[in-house]
Amino acid sequence: MSEYFDAVIVGGGMVGGTLAALLGQAAKRVAVLESAPAIELEADAPYELRVSALSRASEQILRKVKAWEGIVKRRAAPYESMVVWDSTGSGEIRFDAADLGEPDLGHIIENRVIQLALQERLTELEEVKVFSPAQFKTASYTHKGLKIELSTGQVLETALLVGADGARSAVREWAQIDMAVNDYAQQGLVCVAQTELPHQWTAWQRFMPTGPLAFLPLPDPQFCSIVWTLPSDQADAYVLQDESTFKQHLAQALDYRLGQVVSVSERAAFPLKGRHAAQYCAERVVLVGDAAHTIHPLAGQGVNLGLKDVAELAEQLLQDAKHWGSFKVLRRYERARKADNALTLHSMEGFSLLFGNKLSVWQVVRNQGLSLVNQMSWVKGQLARYALGVG
Ligand SMILES: Cc1cc2nc3c(=O)[nH]c(=O)nc-3n(C[C@H](O)[C@H](O)[C@H](O)COP(=O)(O)OP(=O)(O)OC[C@H]3O[C@@H](n4cnc5c(N)ncnc54)[C@H](O)[C@@H]3O)c2cc1C
Repeated sequence: MSEYFDAVIVGGGMVGGTLAALLGQAAKRVAVLESAPAIELEADAPYELRVSALSRASEQILRKVKAWEGIVKRRAAPYESMVVWDSTGSGEIRFDAADLGEPDLGHIIENRVIQLALQERLTELEEVKVFSPAQFKTASYTHKGLKIELSTGQVLETALLVGADGARSAVREWAQIDMAVNDYAQQGLVCVAQTELPHQWTAWQRFMPTGPLAFLPLPDPQFCSIVWTLPSDQADAYVLQDESTFKQHLAQALDYRLGQVVSVSERAAFPLKGRHAAQYCAERVVLVGDAAHTIHPLAGQGVNLGLKDVAELAEQLLQDAKHWGSFKVLRRYERARKADNALTLHSMEGFSLLFGNKLSVWQVVRNQGLSLVNQMSWVKGQLARYALGVG
């Protein structure tokens, strides 16, 4: 006989793992299917290339599921300031946590540290069972709900199938939910760089006509995680470039604000696409995180939006447990989240277009705009609160 779960979550990444903890804590029986094997991390392992800038709202969600302690006891870098400037002029804006009466503006954390802390938390929750490595193969409707087939040959029964399986979601495909895709023809080049000067617990971001470059502080004061948006052919060339030439390009691209680049790790580049699912739910199926939407990484909001999705979904499900997994409840979640996600998606595309525009009139607009906002403490405060996820 197949095992029954209140929810089967496909994808045990940052978003799926958090949802499993939220539901498991509320005594719901949850299965998590994760195609990758369990994460292991030595204390002195080199920094991972993929990091997330977690907002205060995300920190609060991760505290709620008791994963935050497991993150900060390992490696997390709080950032106290953020400086954004335009390469084509003198416009600059600076945000300081102290001006908002906050200890920091957020944390830069390696993705696998977040995943490991969640993985640990899930082992403490009796109601949660993780199948890993195991892949979602297919599903079929039964008179009570759904039957889920795993790549391992196991079969599970559930009232709710959650797609938390990332941008190329197999659950979304199985449910035949359409996706609007906007190919930015750009790639996000990521690496870790050691700099001559300390990062001062500041997130540095310079906008260039080719795309933004971010130096994000890591726990070591002279190490930063780099996210550099570039036209695809240039990103490919930079990945292959010899180390010493790349280091020079990188330091120059940041205007030498942190001096020379002393060393760089291996480099990788990810194609950037904006995607938004036409619906977030179907009969007994729901999408969260990157399975429902992917956005431009320039404001580092991808995971933050996904965590807001699962906080909302868990609240709606638990509030109306009598109609667990019904379309009515799933639609409430969709209505609550879709507009916010669409707004962030389009704002980031707008920013990218504005800063990528070489016409001189736009150069003047953005330079004057940045400097003007920098002088308007109320507007600046609102922007910072939005970035913190508390606005
Ligand atoms: C260059 C770059 C930089 C970024 N920087 C930031 C940042 O600073 N801040 C931020 O918030 N976001 C950032 N993002 C976005 C962020 O990485 C994503 O939004 C986030 O990883 C989404 O999490 P997720 O759990 O929804 O999906 P994923 O991280 O993609 O996790 C999906 C999980 O599902 C598993 N899976 C997939 N298919 C199956 C299957 N069939 N069966 C079982 N398991 C499956 C995968 O193994 C994976 O573990 C960045 C993205 C890029 C490309």
